[in-house]
Amino acid sequence: MNSSMIGKIEKARRYAEEPDRAQIRQLNVKFEGEHDTYHVSFDDGEWSCDCHSFSALQLGTCSHIMAMERLLSGLTLAETANAAG
Ligand SMILES: [Zn+2]
Repeated sequence: MNSSMIGKIEKARRYAEEPDRAQIRQLNVKFEGEHDTYHVSFDDGEWSCDCHSFSALQLGTCSHIMAMERLLSGLTLAETANAAG
């Protein structure tokens, strides 16, 4: 391995210890639930899911989104530019 690659790996290791450097702006997730497969997305600071409980309960979340938030714990989700909530 050449020295410039070694330098990049060292830098990546330092970066990975500072997770605030990376903010997730968009996600597109195929989520396999118990009964069906759902499309979970994160865009412009907002989550959405095409499952029934997300649209019916109007809570802005559902079990699939909550699971994604657990999976992503420690990572930063970018907030929308005009924060409306
Ligand atoms: Zn859902």
